[in-house]
Amino acid sequence: MTHRTSPPDEFTHWLAGLRSWAAKCQRDADLWRPAAAQGLLSLAVPESAGGSGAGYEAACLALETFAEESGLSGLPFAMAAQMWACQEPLLEFGSSTQRDRYLTPLLTGTAVGAFAATEYDSGSDLLSLRTRADRDEGGRWRLNGAKTFVTNGPTADVFVVLARTAEGSALSGLTAFLVPRGTPGLQVGMVTDKTGLRGAEVSSLHMDDCLLDDSDVLGGPGGGFAVLMHAMRHERAFILAPTLGLMARALREAVEHARSRSQFGHPLASYDTIRRRLVRMHVSLTSARELLHATARRADADTLDHGRSSLTKLHVSTEFNRFCQELPDVYGGYALLPETGVAALLADAVASRYYSGTSDMQMKIIAERLGL
Ligand SMILES: Cc1cc2nc3c(=O)[nH]c(=O)nc-3n(C[C@H](O)[C@H](O)[C@H](O)COP(=O)(O)OP(=O)(O)OC[C@H]3O[C@@H](n4cnc5c(N)ncnc54)[C@H](O)[C@@H]3O)c2cc1C
Repeated sequence: MTHRTSPPDEFTHWLAGLRSWAAKCQRDADLWRPAAAQGLLSLAVPESAGGSGAGYEAACLALETFAEESGLSGLPFAMAAQMWACQEPLLEFGSSTQRDRYLTPLLTGTAVGAFAATEYDSGSDLLSLRTRADRDEGGRWRLNGAKTFVTNGPTADVFVVLARTAEGSALSGLTAFLVPRGTPGLQVGMVTDKTGLRGAEVSSLHMDDCLLDDSDVLGGPGGGFAVLMHAMRHERAFILAPTLGLMARALREAVEHARSRSQFGHPLASYDTIRRRLVRMHVSLTSARELLHATARRADADTLDHGRSSLTKLHVSTEFNRFCQELPDVYGGYALLPETGVAALLADAVASRYYSGTSDMQMKIIAERLGL
């Protein structure tokens, strides 16, 4: 694998440490800081900005390993959401003051970050968002509106909030704000009950006359679209990295189940239908992993574009769903028992078609790249 600065031996050693630590993790609760202390959040951040400079492929492999060894899906997803939608924009657009105030604590896990763009009426049609920030007489920004589906919302210390600051084109009419928890007028909603991604908490966010300064603007007034695109370019490419680990774990367990359970006097693994299912799952996992890692190497080489990110999100989520179509049939009725983890993985697979932009929206982006 390619590493930007870390020597491979050092990274391999570090990954082995992460693997044995993760194998002892059994539930998502109270693990954010310990996981951050392992160095998980800082791999894709250059040393000059306080990270370890190991690069994107190393970061993806670490998230994959964490999920595979722990079997946790929610926490790695929530950490990935922060890495790609909060840390990356702070790295790219943050002033040195903003980086010191927010990025440094995000990397060490002493603070949690959330990205709030989606609204009830603006999901796929995100650019129609209605949250507004207007200048008041004193020159401060007055932020009003409501967001939904905010990953890490319940625990976040800082929110990257996308708001409309001018009418007309989204290219110049949107602005991103860094809104600290505790800002008067900012109200975090209850944890949204959901199936899938257990352990990743999502909530709504309400802003009622939150007063902000120019120093709270990320990427400059009118720079919100660029912040959004930068976040999505990374999130779409890498948000599914932990899923590769979950698929690998599920495949290992399914093979074990097929070898150990017998029907009609023979192991399930001896029946061609079961063997083919497991082979198809292996093919799905391999092609998803190969593509995501190749995409990460592009990011390490600074050549990642939006089309490639959408293609990666679409392909990995599609293969994840294919994988999960085969999985229950290896288990039969046992697929319904929580201890097999099959139903939980299925719910995660469904969710993967929607977050970071739905599969239809990724296809729309790819179609445009094809000149359609
Ligand atoms: C687990 C989870 C975590 C999330 N975390 C965050 C977060 O941290 N921050 C954040 O801002 N958002 C977050 N989101 C929101 C996510 O980005 C949206 O769910 C997503 O963009 C889709 O919007 P929607 O759910 O409103 O679906 P809708 O836009 O209502 O779409 C419903 C269906 O209609 C289809 N559709 C819509 N328009 C068209 C069209 N023009 N042509 C064809 N088909 C169309 C869609 O593809 C989809 O299949 C999260 C979502 C989930 C599920």
